Amino acid sequence: MSPTASITAPPSPTLTREQIEAVIASLQPVQRIMIRLLLLPFMTPSSDDIFFMARERTEPAMRSGGNIATAFGGNTAIRREKINGVPKDWIDSVGNRALLYQSQLRENLGRLNLLAAFFQDYLAGLQPELDSMEQLLATECEMGQESLDDLRAQARLAPLTYALKKLAARADKQEVEDEDYRRERLSLEYQAHLRRRDRFKKRLDQARVERQAVLLTSLSDEFLAEVWGLAVGPIRNRRVKSIQAYLSALATALHASPDQASMTAAVNAGIGPKLSGGSLNEGFSSKPVDLCGDLWSLTVQALAAELMAPVASKPCSHPGGEMKSLTVKLRDLATYGLGEDEEVKIWAQTLQCPNCVTTLRTAQQKSGLLDRQADVVLAQVKTRTAMPRKETPAEVLAKPKDAPEETGIALEERLRPWLGDDAGETGGRGSQTWW
Ligand SMILES: [Zn+2]
Repeated sequence: MSPTASITAPPSPTLTREQIEAVIASLQPVQRIMIRLLLLPFMTPSSDDIFFMARERTEPAMRSGGNIATAFGGNTAIRREKINGVPKDWIDSVGNRALLYQSQLRENLGRLNLLAAFFQDYLAGLQPELDSMEQLLATECEMGQESLDDLRAQARLAPLTYALKKLAARADKQEVEDEDYRRERLSLEYQAHLRRRDRFKKRLDQARVERQAVLLTSLSDEFLAEVWGLAVGPIRNRRVKSIQAYLSALATALHASPDQASMTAAVNAGIGPKLSGGSLNEGFSSKPVDLCGDLWSLTVQALAAELMAPVASKPCSHPGGEMKSLTVKLRDLATYGLGEDEEVKIWAQTLQCPNCVTTLRTAQQKSGLLDRQADVVLAQVKTRTAMPRKETPAEVLAKPKDAPEETGIALEERLRPWLGDDAGETGGRGSQTWW
């Protein structure tokens, strides 16, 4: 990069973790620690950092030892244990809080990374199914372009559950011809898939927006003050100065000479959208946030681009999380087999739960759905939507015991995964028995 290059120039391919860490290490202790805390999902404060913060504690309760006496049941031996004049439990407390917030931030970022990857692959795997359905509707069912357009136009509001149930009942009584059955079944599955595509496109967009917002957000001053054990005022002051110092040092290291506007943009990016009174729990707007080319954003992007170590899995903390039926539903959801009505019931908690999101992603990757060739997808869709045959007693006897589980399951239940969100109309019988 030339000495006159703007600080907002396209991302520098040479900005690496090594460079970033070297620049941070060159800062004064307070600034070094602050930058590491601001980049906490990607950086761990050193033991020197922890010691420095513990020594600075100004909380009156901690100074007087009140908390310690309570926390350790008045055990003076522990209370007096000091490292270079700083009570050991102060050091532990600072270190534990930093690690606690780090693990929370990493868990959230990891969840969003997994979700975005899951949605992307979900949509990628859905497309060949949609293509196959369109092809079969046009060829096997001789459906014209206009009828296909109608199906698409009506997909959003079509009462799929009701229609599928009616179709199942007719098939059961042999009141429908093979060709009619296939056409109707394909039409309904096609519409259910179109609705899936719409839902998951929106979810992918939302996950990307949220991930960007998370990347651009550091711990708020209140959280930083809690880790450091200082008041919010000095923390805010240190935050701004540290970001300025880091950016100047980085610009020097990169031989860039930022103009005032670029520097301001970078400082603002470092301070983040919620400088004062901000809370991690505020939620994010649905407005897309662009990661810019300023040096702070480039720093975050360079660090976020590294492969994150998987976060240790914790069990679900929401109601029903320990039930095996939830795992089954998540697996079906990942493989396009969970009805919209069932999906709606579990979605809100699934989205927020790192464990559920991990289960979804794992099920997707194990399913092999993404590796299917187009002709395989076509054959599978064709088989699935063929008129069901009632087995003669001889066929039932001839079937090996470990035959696919379709045997004995009512047709309506086999259609369950394809039902829409209007299950209420049909009493939702399957939802009690299918799983
Ligand atoms: Zn869960």
